[in-house]
Amino acid sequence: MKVAFCSAEVFPFAKTGGLGEVCGTLPVALKKRGIDVTVIMPRFRCIQDCGRPIRETGEGVATATLDEGIPVYFIESKLFFDRDGLYGDAHGDYPDNAERFQYYCLQTLELLRRLKRKVDIVHCHDWHAALIPVYLKAYYGDDPFYAKTKSVLTIHNLAHQGVFPDKDYGKLGLRNDLFESFEFFGKANFLKAGILHGDRITTVSPQYAREIQTPRFGCGLEAVLRSRADKVTGILNGLNYEVWNPATDPFLKERYSADDVETAKSANKTHLQKEFRLSVRSDIPLCGFVGRLSHQKGIDLILKVLQDMKDRDMQVLILGSGDGKYQRHLQEIAAQYPQKMAVSIHFDERLAHQIYAGCDLLWMPSHFEPCGLSQMIGLRYGTIPVVHHVGGLVDTVVPFDSSRRTGNGFVFDKYSGEDFEKALHQAVAVFHNKALFRRIRQDAFAADFSWDKSAHEYEKVYRCLLSD
Ligand code: ADP
Repeated sequence: MKVAFCSAEVFPFAKTGGLGEVCGTLPVALKKRGIDVTVIMPRFRCIQDCGRPIRETGEGVATATLDEGIPVYFIESKLFFDRDGLYGDAHGDYPDNAERFQYYCLQTLELLRRLKRKVDIVHCHDWHAALIPVYLKAYYGDDPFYAKTKSVLTIHNLAHQGVFPDKDYGKLGLRNDLFESFEFFGKANFLKAGILHGDRITTVSPQYAREIQTPRFGCGLEAVLRSRADKVTGILNGLNYEVWNPATDPFLKERYSADDVETAKSANKTHLQKEFRLSVRSDIPLCGFVGRLSHQKGIDLILKVLQDMKDRDMQVLILGSGDGKYQRHLQEIAAQYPQKMAVSIHFDERLAHQIYAGCDLLWMPSHFEPCGLSQMIGLRYGTIPVVHHVGGLVDTVVPFDSSRRTGNGFVFDKYSGEDFEKALHQAVAVFHNKALFRRIRQDAFAADFSWDKSAHEYEKVYRCLLSD
């Protein structure tokens, strides 16, 4: 089976977040299952700094190789892609994003034809690649080269849709009657068109697949998604087990596995407490948060809980950057309680690994969460997540059940300060019951978030499409 993987971001060539991470890892996992994958992305300026050799081929296109020998082709345009940012600069989004990604989508289909790479599936990611299913039908519907090619559109975060003024539609070279499938409150919405024209739609967790079909989480596209409900599937992202492995992690003070987790984690905890000048205490829980400081991540709930920090017997470490208002607020509270709380406003890979290893509890009270990686990393490192019952958090964290003494995390149902508080209260009580907390840690270690499992699910979607 041949698949063309089409994404604006593919790690290590270009990445601003989860999209790049997934699109750098999933092709490799698919290849290991025997699927012939070709990756196609824009030739952004940052690609020259990715540390991998970029070759100019005789076919007039630059190429590089991902792990497992997967070929990556770069759609070139000095005008559109040779810029410092992927999507924008300090002034906001680039004003010509509609044309930039239209160009990428059309040229991707042209390139496959030129290279004579006949693929069974074009797998498109997010709004940047969402016009590919549209052009596949509108431009290439009669082309024998694409007669059997099917499309899959994966939504990584429905909050980003690629919405442009309706006048931009005129630049897409599509028939007027197709505007209806783009129309979104008088504007042109690329993702909407992709959802309507893609043969299958996937998103990054089963729970998020259900949620986005409701007004609360549908970002205005719930009815469109419901109209295609039988084509929508949720597939949980995996975790890169080579990067996230406490037994081999080069950033840790002490490495560990399930057998020696207790002593090693306490050494890592002490190290963190010293580094951040918190009081060195093993008898109170150290809580961590790693992530973007944005509304999505539930920082409002964290701030609510931190208001009463004076009376709390716990410590909190926060690593993140983002919204200036959150940054200031968190730093103000940390300054008041230097022995209990520290905030680091950076993107710091090393510190992130150390927090996952040294903390007892990991906070993730997200407002919404398409999949979420942090909670999976927490579980992998034996750091017990405290999460809101939403999106991918539902599919990865098993709520602690006090009567059966099962579960691997603490979950609250309603997005409110009180409910987060209650879950936290329960987590702290269990932390003090050493035997029980140990048991929860072992359950956390047992979870399987391997990419092979996800790749297997994508393969099923592909096979199902081919047998249609
Ligand atoms: P997002 O919605 O940002 O994609 P995820 O939980 O899916 O959230 O993934 C975020 C990833 O980025 C995690 O691996 C997390 O550890 C990492 N991360 C986020 N913020 C930081 C930071 N300030 N420093 C280091 N790593 C970070």
